[in-house]
Amino acid sequence: MKILVTGGSGMVGRSLRALFPNATYPSSSELDLTDSRAVKSYMGQGRFDSVIHLAAHVGSLHDNIENSTLYFDRNVLMNTLLTKYAYESGVKNFLGVLSTCIYPDATKEFPIPESSLHNGAPHFDLMSYSYAKRSHAVQLDAYKNSFGVNYNYLIPCNLYGAKLESHRGRSHFINDLIYKICAAKLNGERGIVLFGDGTPLRQFMHAEDFAKVIFAYISNNINASFNVAPQVNMSINEMARIALDVCECDTFTVSYDSSKPNGQHRKDVNTSLMEKYLPDLEFRSLRDGMSSLFQAEYQSLRDLK
Ligand code: NDP
Repeated sequence: MKILVTGGSGMVGRSLRALFPNATYPSSSELDLTDSRAVKSYMGQGRFDSVIHLAAHVGSLHDNIENSTLYFDRNVLMNTLLTKYAYESGVKNFLGVLSTCIYPDATKEFPIPESSLHNGAPHFDLMSYSYAKRSHAVQLDAYKNSFGVNYNYLIPCNLYGAKLESHRGRSHFINDLIYKICAAKLNGERGIVLFGDGTPLRQFMHAEDFAKVIFAYISNNINASFNVAPQVNMSINEMARIALDVCECDTFTVSYDSSKPNGQHRKDVNTSLMEKYLPDLEFRSLRDGMSSLFQAEYQSLRDLK
């Protein structure tokens, strides 16, 4: 199978490389997915059978609010161009990666099923990124229904994983949390400050676990789109307490800067379709995932001192 993986240098992409060592992984300097001519020419004719599309402009809630135009323009361009030229070049299998933030903000149906995707607008703070991702679902469904190709998408919950230099200034909540605790510990401080009020509920998955889900999806020739998340749905404050415990800082205080936004209150997703197609999945606990992040982060900050 000739597989193209975009976003191979990212948090999920790095984990996927070990699972698909023979796939092609162009960097953004080799293939800028926002450049229509470059995408068309790169895809050629019959060069790939399958595409796993991970590349995206991704970042924190704060960065999404500050730079919303980038989140819309870049993601819409990348998704639209790659899907169109993949189809025209003869690609029969396309797997897109969306995000649970695409679901309606005002929904009352929890955990959120895939069928509620178009039942309302996403949360305002992530509007650009969410609508760009939601549009990709519309595009992939249209290609599948119009042309009978296996064009699908997975909808993962929030991710965390090994720290990347490219995430500087826009890292994700769990990574940021562990960083804050390690920095406070090394500076002799006794507490941390988090944005919002600590009440929002979130599901988190390690990027390596998500890469294994993608591998299982492709290996089992699945032709369906569905949510991907572990069952656990925890408040930000609960996660902070676990992180402090893992980092051996359980006497630290956690204060909240409630002048900063919380984001969507709750967005846990229904995973019955995932369990139907992939019944044997296992996800590491947040405690185990945080523990490996802590070892790496603490060591690297200590080396810098
Ligand atoms: P990262 O931010 O770690 O990596 C993004 C990747 O996209 C990089 O490899 C980058 O390449 C590539 N990329 C960005 N712009 C371009 C471009 N113009 N042309 C080509 N490639 C580009 O992402 P993650 O691994 O965290 O995310 C993987 C997928 O999962 C994404 O689709 C994301 O939306 C989705 N997702 C992520 C979540 C999260 O919490 N991180 C949550 C839910 C879904 P380069 O390094 O060469 O610039």
